[in-house]
Amino acid sequence: MRQTYYAIDKRLCCRCGACQRICPHGALATAANGVPSIDQERCRHCGMCFRACRFGAVGRPYELYRLKDGRSHR
Ligand code: SF4
Ligand code: SF4
Repeated sequence: MRQTYYAIDKRLCCRCGACQRICPHGALATAANGVPSIDQERCRHCGMCFRACRFGAVGRPYELYRLKDGRSHR
């Protein structure tokens, strides 16, 4: 199954927190520099943070194919 993995570009992030507020899975935590980071273990790849960010800071840098046994590869 193909899944899109999201990541936050700290150069574009204004630390507004909108992505954290909208994430239904609590997958975004604030790092020491104030920029949220995505916990890939908690993330369910719904894309809500991607759509919520008005600054284009949430990107889709890569996609992985997750295998049935839990392993992943590009
Ligand atoms: S919504 Fe975008 S700009 Fe706001 S904290 Fe999240 S990544 Fe940063
Ligand atoms: S893709 Fe969905 S589950 Fe993953 S961090 Fe963004 S809002 Fe949360």
